[in-house]
Amino acid sequence: MNVILLGAPGAGKGTIAKLLTDFDGSVQISTGDILRGAVQAGSELGKQAEVFMNTGDLVPDQLIMDIMESRLQASDCQNGFLLDGFPRTMPQAEALKALLSKIGMQLDIAVNLKVSREVILDRLATRRTCSNAECQAIYNVKSNPPKQAGICDKCGSPLIQREDETEKAISHRLKVYNEKTAPLIDFYDAEGLLLSLDATSSDAVISAIKTRLGGGLG
Ligand code: AMP
Repeated sequence: MNVILLGAPGAGKGTIAKLLTDFDGSVQISTGDILRGAVQAGSELGKQAEVFMNTGDLVPDQLIMDIMESRLQASDCQNGFLLDGFPRTMPQAEALKALLSKIGMQLDIAVNLKVSREVILDRLATRRTCSNAECQAIYNVKSNPPKQAGICDKCGSPLIQREDETEKAISHRLKVYNEKTAPLIDFYDAEGLLLSLDATSSDAVISAIKTRLGGGLG
């Protein structure tokens, strides 16, 4: 399946993407994970992206499109892709449309995950992320704590609170989301691709996506 996951920071895009990959081997592509990996590696891309990311601002569209142009043409995308955190601006959505048509791929749906501001603030402030760039596993100190406090269950690296998940940065990211990303909901609605869902329960979200896409998802 070729799916875009839309939704504010903390809406659960990554969680839903991980659950969906199990159905048909579609690959999760998170621009946030790619960028954080680049920052940790100290690459040129990472250096350019870091200043925007730390304040909760968006990285310039051209940098993102350069990443996605090659990523979407990698062989693992042939089984399908789940776009988590991309596109995030109207220019990115337009550029994605042109890119997919150029490489002969089609979107199946754009899922809009809706959650209240209170839930988002609570989820993000209690979220902890594995500091290992290769892992980036996500925990929640309340709802999904690691077995040993502060340590990743999967790889044993320390867990951190991301710099962009402090209360100040979260408020700014929500403002940026409302200004730059929320307009994509109307864009995909006009394209006939939108599926808007209450994202409080991941099980309900997965089942609604399966229903919309019909058979073939096991
Ligand atoms: P995320 O983990 O998706 O919330 O992304 C973390 C940060 O990476 C965002 O706050 C942005 O600074 C940057 N970022 C991720 N994806 C994009 C994108 N599609 N466009 C611009 N900036 C992005």
